[in-house]
Amino acid sequence: MNVLTGKTALVTGGSRGIGRAVALRLAEDGALVAVHYGGNREAADDTVRQINDKGGRAFAVRADFAAPDAADRLFEQLLPPLGDRLDILVNNAGIGSTSPIGAVSTEELDRIFTVNVRTPFLVIQKAIPSLSHGGRVINIGSTATRVAVSTQIAYTMTKAALDSMAASLANELGPRGITVNTVAPGVVRTDMTEGHLSSPEGAAVLASIAALGRLGEVDDVARLVGFLAGPEAAWITGQTLDCSGGMWLGPIIPPQA
Ligand code: NAD
Repeated sequence: MNVLTGKTALVTGGSRGIGRAVALRLAEDGALVAVHYGGNREAADDTVRQINDKGGRAFAVRADFAAPDAADRLFEQLLPPLGDRLDILVNNAGIGSTSPIGAVSTEELDRIFTVNVRTPFLVIQKAIPSLSHGGRVINIGSTATRVAVSTQIAYTMTKAALDSMAASLANELGPRGITVNTVAPGVVRTDMTEGHLSSPEGAAVLASIAALGRLGEVDDVARLVGFLAGPEAAWITGQTLDCSGGMWLGPIIPPQA
């Protein structure tokens, strides 16, 4: 028996990137996983297929997080196959922004706050009655919230907003044994970072600012989420866990010759 046997999970944005790795990990640990996707059915089906091929259980659910009724659409599809009980909620779906403040249009600002903050807030709100005793809420934040990156100002604000929910929510849900934590990845190779990492020079610079000297991989993040979802993490709540290989800890000064 695996640590999550008998548990149910929702991974938003589980069709690709970090979300796919998380969905695979939770399924490998025994959970029945709802793989949420925004528009690419093929990618979601591929995640489900990969899970099934390894003997796990999963199904796909669709909701465009930019739509005002996304949380309602999601839960209509989600709860019947889960038997109205959700044990693990991973809020992973998100979009980036690469504009400095002067170039962020009101449309872009509204969209990024809707996808990264408004809809996840409403998803959590709708999930609360169905979350089981001992359940887990795991939000995917970003190390961007602890450094200055002027071209990611709007994105950073959305991740800080999501992160700031954890303490209040942890206090509210603590009496039910439910933990609420944020996982903050550094730079991870996915579709989202493809542009930054397309040149070997750009990738090398971003790898060099991590104490461990490399870029993150999706499984680096999935392992931490898997740990937080499991029984060994029952006493950790209201926290932000950095998962960046020590990104931007300070200048890396070589020893004196
Ligand atoms: P990605 O672009 O591969 O994945 C983003 C996921 O969000 C996809 O599954 C996508 O379908 C979903 N999504 C985007 N817009 C949506 C919409 N309108 N409706 C429904 N779903 C939508 O990127 P990723 O790197 O895997 O990102 C996953 C999470 O990790 C995001 O929240 C991101 O902010 C965060 N993150 C990523 C990095 C990184 O370096 N890659 C670093 C820190 C945090």
